[in-house]
Amino acid sequence: MTKKYFVLASLVSLFPVHSLCALETRLAGELSQVEVPAVQAASPDIKSLRAEYDEIYSALEFYSNAAYAARRDSPEFLEASASGQYLRARLEGVSREISKLSGAAYSGGAGSRRLGGVSARVRSEINDALGFDRPLSSRSGETRGVPIKQGYCQINYVKNNTPFLVQYDGFLEKGEIILTFDDGPGSLTEEVSAAMKEGKAPSLFFVLGANLGDSGKARLKVEAADGHSVGVHGYNHATPSGKPFTALSTAETLKQLGGVSASITSAVGKEPGFFRPPYGIISPEALRAIDSELGLVPVGWTIDTLDWSTKDPEALFQKTISLIKERGKGIVLMHDIHPQSRTAAKRLVVWLADNGYKVVPPERMAAAFRGRP
Ligand SMILES: [Zn+2]
Repeated sequence: MTKKYFVLASLVSLFPVHSLCALETRLAGELSQVEVPAVQAASPDIKSLRAEYDEIYSALEFYSNAAYAARRDSPEFLEASASGQYLRARLEGVSREISKLSGAAYSGGAGSRRLGGVSARVRSEINDALGFDRPLSSRSGETRGVPIKQGYCQINYVKNNTPFLVQYDGFLEKGEIILTFDDGPGSLTEEVSAAMKEGKAPSLFFVLGANLGDSGKARLKVEAADGHSVGVHGYNHATPSGKPFTALSTAETLKQLGGVSASITSAVGKEPGFFRPPYGIISPEALRAIDSELGLVPVGWTIDTLDWSTKDPEALFQKTISLIKERGKGIVLMHDIHPQSRTAAKRLVVWLADNGYKVVPPERMAAAFRGRP
């Protein structure tokens, strides 16, 4: 790595666009009458953004490999999966910045993928964002697993102090599948929704409030009209800089989710019944309050397709069906914002029907969580 690279990388790390946005929001909230300096001065150049892209891409590859190598229910898997989701969003953010500056779409240059592994800067950013390096002191004596609902879900603390929602699917019969799609709605949503309807697969879409402008709300209407359910994921994912809900107080979390819930209700004329925390990271206290105050059933997943980790729909489809065959049933996590996920999901729903699987509606999870037969 050249000295020049270090200089560029450190400039980028001093002025990442998302942190400035977050800072701006915070400052604007605290000192609403004070003019916040324009972001312009810190705009990174294309070369440094490309270096950052390569750095993040390299880390994304690392966590993708780590997730595939880890045992599915291990702390290492949760960490790698959450880190990968975070990095995929960061990568797309940097890619958008480069496209804005250059006027052309960007998905990695000739120099991409040469770095190898995770740089100290990216590791530190992930630890900061997802809370992996938070000290244990505040929870000494607490068990690593906090029950939420026996046989349905619990919270496991991994990597020091980060609480992950761990989902069980013992309430599903062999061959039963629940399909979930996160982070939309987006430009691919209608296509996914129509394909799932066609395949008689009532699905659950966990949406972001930030995507619920007029076109987003219209997409929710399409989902509902296609017989699917809409759930709450967050306004952002979950803070403006992509930190999970553990970065907010329970009151702030409830306020944000209540707002998204109201947006969904106004779009589809029906209250959402389900909540999935971004990255699966949420404290037991917040999760219980989201149930009691907002009436939202928590939902994790038991089959993580890692669809963020590839751009190849064929590889994703093959991986997904092998995971489903291995487990025999489960709650499948995909994202209706990625082209590879759209294509793989369309094949998956046909494959499920052809191979004797049944997609069951998400109400099965509400029944299991609420203890109804
Ligand atoms: Zn998400």
